Amino acid sequence: MKTKRKWQVVFKPYATNQIMLLPPSLEELIDDKHPVRVVNQVIDKIDLEPLLKKFKGGGTSCYHPKMLLKVLVYAYLNNVYSSRRMEALVKESIPFMWLAGMNKPDHNTINRFRSDKLKDVLKQVFKQIVLLLAEAGQVDLKELYLDGTKVDANANRYTFVWGNNIKTNKERIRKQLNDLWDYAQSLAAEELQDTSPVEFNEINPEKVSQTIQKIDTALKGKPVDKKVKQKLSYARRKWPQSLEKYQQQEETLKGRKSYSKTDTDATFMRMKDDHMQNGQLKPGYNWQISTNNQIITNYTIHPSPNDTTTLIQHMEQHKELYGHSPDVLTADAGYGSQENYEYLESNKIEAYVKYNYFHKEQKQKQQDPFNSQNFYYNPEKDCYYCPMGQQILLVGQRKRTTENGFVQHSKIYQAQNCTGCPLRGMCYKSQGNRQIEVNHKLKQLKARAREKLLSEKGIYHRKRRPADVEAVFGIIKGNHGFKRFLLKGKSKVEIEAGLIAIAHNLRKMVA
Ligand code: SF4
Repeated sequence: MKTKRKWQVVFKPYATNQIMLLPPSLEELIDDKHPVRVVNQVIDKIDLEPLLKKFKGGGTSCYHPKMLLKVLVYAYLNNVYSSRRMEALVKESIPFMWLAGMNKPDHNTINRFRSDKLKDVLKQVFKQIVLLLAEAGQVDLKELYLDGTKVDANANRYTFVWGNNIKTNKERIRKQLNDLWDYAQSLAAEELQDTSPVEFNEINPEKVSQTIQKIDTALKGKPVDKKVKQKLSYARRKWPQSLEKYQQQEETLKGRKSYSKTDTDATFMRMKDDHMQNGQLKPGYNWQISTNNQIITNYTIHPSPNDTTTLIQHMEQHKELYGHSPDVLTADAGYGSQENYEYLESNKIEAYVKYNYFHKEQKQKQQDPFNSQNFYYNPEKDCYYCPMGQQILLVGQRKRTTENGFVQHSKIYQAQNCTGCPLRGMCYKSQGNRQIEVNHKLKQLKARAREKLLSEKGIYHRKRRPADVEAVFGIIKGNHGFKRFLLKGKSKVEIEAGLIAIAHNLRKMVA
């Protein structure tokens, strides 16, 4: 019978307290093609003069801003956004230790540098990296794709302030003050005769205090109803304070509909990633980027959830950064407004920007004779003709001002008599005669946009847009898990967006 041979187990040498004759150099531990080398080389090429100017002389020595910038960019490239984690990495991770030159900045230093020193200078760093990529032929600054996404702010979703609530509360106070004034007049008309009339249309804390004082003086010694007494006492104590608070809140709102008390720059908006599926609004920022070849060429942060209002500011910033507008811009239907079309035309930008119902219109236009867009228009008489041949005449004009203050004019046309029309059921659902509203200028702009969008070039850019710009958000949010800004306040959020954009571009460079 054969006996089984027993193999001896051999372990590799293991000793944690082993002393090396020559300490290893960090340089040789890092691979030649390691991404940390790309970060190092790129930041070394950049002119950091504006950043260096932010440091004042005197006092103790400080960490070199170039080192801190490299550490931050490399951390973002590795999906590390927390300053405490960065502090740990510069002590433990070989690439970080090499990049930091064995410096060990703590999380406070990293955070202060990120929030304060990078303010107003990071965009220049970003621009120089984009220009390096343009020189290398990796990006074309003349042909851009624009898109936006909403990103959660680092703010509590339950500490909200709504503009509409402020309006309602102010209106309630105004109405109740008016009632108290009327009551006082009914009881002490003589005493109030000499007092100047009170204007209740616009109320403020001073006016409310003065009015309550006048009412108090007039009602002194009069048989005042118990409930009115209680109301007056409440008004005296609470209303001026409340109005002062509303004034401050309105100043913080700056024309927005809402904000979060824990990050007053964050606006409540509907997010795409709605895990609860309940349509809950969350505090966030609207992050806009323009790309070419999946490389971010510009980024902007906006408080408004509406993409339409962001295009001009974004393109103006592009012009400021690179000294020229792009030749071609492609964007989705969220940007198709009169204001944007006019801006793009006046800046000679070849725009492939869709408008609402562009796709629906392509399907329905030929088939639906009741769509007002298919009604025959007579420009001499400035009237339309419906499918029954009835004239739809001009009855009025309407003026609308957009969030950006742009004024749009449209005309209202109305059919003269729709009663008894056999096509009434198919034509429209509302009561009265059919009315249509037409913005002729926008109609012309849409016609020009449609022509471009349906051209061969238009189809090419429309097909390329999702793979170019939308994919970048997919990479950042999906692959790298960036779903929430960590810093608070618009200027700091802009820095974070910039670091993410730089990290993304460097990743493309490495690839
Ligand atoms: S309902 Fe009025 S607008 Fe419509 S087809 Fe009849 S007459 Fe014309």
